[in-house]
Amino acid sequence: MTKFTDLNLDKKVLKAIADAGYEEPTPIQAGAIPPALEGRDVLGIAQTGTGKTASFTLPMITLLGRGRARARMPRSLVLCPTRELAAQVAENFDTYTKYHKLTKALLIGGVSFKEQDQLIDKGVDVLIATPGRLLDHFERGKLILSDVKIMVVDEADRMLDMGFIPDIEKIFGMTPFTRQTLFFSATMAPEIERITNTFLSNPARIEVARQATSGENIKQNVVMFKGSRRERAATEKRDLLRALIDAEGETLQNGIIFCNRKMDVDIVAKSLSKHGYDAAPIHGDLDQSKRNATLEGFRNGELKILVASDVAARGLDVPSVTHVFNFDVPSHAEDYVHRIGRTGRAGRDGKAIMICEPRDEKNFADVERLIGKDIPRLDNPLGTSSAAPSNEAASPEANETKSAEKPKRTRTRSRRSSDKTEAPKTDTPKVDAEAVTPVQTEAPVDAAAQEAAPEVKEETSPAARETASEPRQDTRTERRDDKRDDNRDDKRASRSRGGRGRGRSRDDDNKVLGLGDHLPSFIAMSFEERREAEGN
Ligand code: AMP
Repeated sequence: MTKFTDLNLDKKVLKAIADAGYEEPTPIQAGAIPPALEGRDVLGIAQTGTGKTASFTLPMITLLGRGRARARMPRSLVLCPTRELAAQVAENFDTYTKYHKLTKALLIGGVSFKEQDQLIDKGVDVLIATPGRLLDHFERGKLILSDVKIMVVDEADRMLDMGFIPDIEKIFGMTPFTRQTLFFSATMAPEIERITNTFLSNPARIEVARQATSGENIKQNVVMFKGSRRERAATEKRDLLRALIDAEGETLQNGIIFCNRKMDVDIVAKSLSKHGYDAAPIHGDLDQSKRNATLEGFRNGELKILVASDVAARGLDVPSVTHVFNFDVPSHAEDYVHRIGRTGRAGRDGKAIMICEPRDEKNFADVERLIGKDIPRLDNPLGTSSAAPSNEAASPEANETKSAEKPKRTRTRSRRSSDKTEAPKTDTPKVDAEAVTPVQTEAPVDAAAQEAAPEVKEETSPAARETASEPRQDTRTERRDDKRDDNRDDKRASRSRGGRGRGRSRDDDNKVLGLGDHLPSFIAMSFEERREAEGN
């Protein structure tokens, strides 16, 4: 059995590892650390939970221990697909560099450029970034990557899902050809293979067993569910979710509920809270400080149930999650493996329960094919699926349900209410106030969720994925957030204003639209009269 002391790591790193309580290296660490320390490129095929973060941070710290950072020229670069993952990698660096004097900067959206610029200006040994934010800094001329000696790409498969591969290629091109590359991906899609063939040089390839597929310590179940009527299915599905949670009793200490769409993340979290469950949402559209606070609450045990999208929760390391619920069958089978891998970590027991609707059956078959086994069916705790009683009538969700069932009527009512607002002052203010009750505010959300559902079922093409799935949207959010602080945005805005202005002035020089060459004399007269009046 390999020991950490066999790996040639710096003594101060070994001390920090001992403080962290690690006794022996995990397989990815034992495989990746020696070639990384020799300066070789590494291709690690491993997913989160395998100890892959330490497999690149520990040799990096050992290598960076010799030498110093120069202003604006980081010596190493770690690229992560999401802010949360980047923040987690930064935490890892803090843990393992406790006896070193290495400096680091975290470049992620949602943090002001000014603070990040100041850190970079001073010079950093390790730069941890999401691709969008890194490129923004680079394009503003605040960052020089020509001194990068080690570059890490973490969770490359997720980068691919999020449309970051062109950015990654660009960043590779900005770093020196002589850099060392440590590249990690849970899977090797053809596009990932192509990138590694292009940018890695004779890498040491280390592949470790899939954590979730080999993890016998996660008990997996699925409940086949069909709503009694199409328009009631969403409510009944939430009833079922609560019944499944309740059935776990005391064994459920904390859990993550995954939904395929951000809209459902919000709806499910809100619905659970209304029913008295300790639940909060996390997805890419939420404000970064809110995301951090929710995660922190979940990590330290203050929050029991996290309702999450794949992007927001991917790669997050919460050591003891007792349950994972898949509110939807993920549309990409790989995500099932990542999702259930949030539980049963570090050899603990875990439980993963999924709800499968008839429209999910194809995706469900893909999941079973991928994991190479049948997932045992669980009886619907509310009785037979189609006859599943819904407690909606007496539930705090009654309003929500009502609005979801009658989207058209709600829209009609909203229109009427605005008609009333515009009508001559015959309606009292009270009538208007009633027309915009919170019930109506909620209605379009739920109604839209219902209307959007069939699209997700049919989501197969890349284009459909881009519009319907979380990752692209998260990318855009990342960009949006980044742009908010960005001076380039101002420039772009003024450029586009200038463009439009020029367009307008050209039009102004010409004719009045629709009148051709002929300018009626009464128009000219009115101007002259005004000019005369102004002259007086
Ligand atoms: P990762 O796959 O990098 O997300 O790591 C998953 C978890 O394993 C983290 O909580 C690490 O702190 C922990 N870990 C990493 N290496 C070891 C090790 N050699 N022994 C025990 N735990 C470890």
